[in-house]
Amino acid sequence: MSTKFSVSSPVTQSREAVESLITYLTGTAPVEMPATYRVSGDVALVRSKDGKAYYTVTTRGCSCPAATYHPGTACKHRRAAFPPAEVESIKPRFDEPFRPYTDD
Ligand SMILES: [Zn+2]
Repeated sequence: MSTKFSVSSPVTQSREAVESLITYLTGTAPVEMPATYRVSGDVALVRSKDGKAYYTVTTRGCSCPAATYHPGTACKHRRAAFPPAEVESIKPRFDEPFRPYTDD
């Protein structure tokens, strides 16, 4: 099973897949499924309203339908996983010379 997360094209995960991932990462099965699970610095999983799936949220997007219909606007999952203040702090600072940033 592949659990590779793409930052540029996030894919919604099933509840079972996220449970397996947490079990794999922590070594124990979660007693209660979390509403938000941070996978890495720029990828998080946010539980859907019905609890059956988890949206993959990155600092740049979310796999939920709202994010697809309103590209460029942070959906509630993205705001929950990456609060604006936190995103602000990782933006390049304007009082420093800008360095080109590559992301693959
Ligand atoms: Zn979303």
